Amino acid sequence: MEAFIRCYPPNLPTGTTHVWYVMRGDDLVVDTQNPAEPLPGTSQAPTSIAIRKHFPLGTQGDISVHAAIVDADCELSEGLQTVNLRNLMNHPGIRQEVIMAGSYAKELIEFQTMTKYCSRCAAPYRAIPNTWGLRCDPCKHEVFAPVSPAIIVLIHDGDRVLLTTKVGWGNRYSLVAGFAEPGESFEACVAREVREEVGVEVSTIRYVGSQCWPFPHQVMVGFLAQYKSGDIHMDAEELADAKWFDRGAMPAIPPATAISGQILDIWLHGDAQKDMIVGFDYQDYR
Ligand SMILES: [Zn+2]
Repeated sequence: MEAFIRCYPPNLPTGTTHVWYVMRGDDLVVDTQNPAEPLPGTSQAPTSIAIRKHFPLGTQGDISVHAAIVDADCELSEGLQTVNLRNLMNHPGIRQEVIMAGSYAKELIEFQTMTKYCSRCAAPYRAIPNTWGLRCDPCKHEVFAPVSPAIIVLIHDGDRVLLTTKVGWGNRYSLVAGFAEPGESFEACVAREVREEVGVEVSTIRYVGSQCWPFPHQVMVGFLAQYKSGDIHMDAEELADAKWFDRGAMPAIPPATAISGQILDIWLHGDAQKDMIVGFDYQDYR
């Protein structure tokens, strides 16, 4: 994948072809014939729709990547539809570039459209040049798009793995996950979340990789952890079920577009004991 070079206002992307991630509310506007790709356009606008505000995101190879918003009640012309970003991430054949840029567009637009007044003194914010941040002139308070770290961890024990499911997930099981608390390392967060959600203790906590998860603005930090001790005691307020599965009798699991699916894939097809590379590239690992 070509490096994505971010740009910050007033700078603009430098690629000669242009793609547009257009948001209407929480959803992405796409071509009905090509729903897993951004809309084509010029440096000023997408081809097929009138936008309200433009957010130049960056350059990838020779492609200028833009985001934009349209009004929530904007009528879409024939051949356009909206798609929920979360559903799009499960779309077969979705490209990593599209997931990354779509996630960036969603988080940036949410921050920029919902943050108008200083949380300390209520004066209007103004843009800080060369960033997407905002500054309050009277009290000097500055804000930037928030990112909330959350851990996600696969608990393994030889040929079995401890998975959980929630109400509404149907027959699909996934990993234990939860937000980091103030004053906590990721490793301490892994041990605490595992203890709180399923009641067991883990050791040998290993970082695997991370993924932006824009619902609303997490970064999921992925780990493998060795089961150490204890019986399953499930947090029934958070979970619908938690149990061990043997490698040869796995339930439905998340797709490989999500980090949960990628970590499960590593455990199922790789070796969870093998040294993991910090900042690994899942595609290279495969
Ligand atoms: Zn202020």
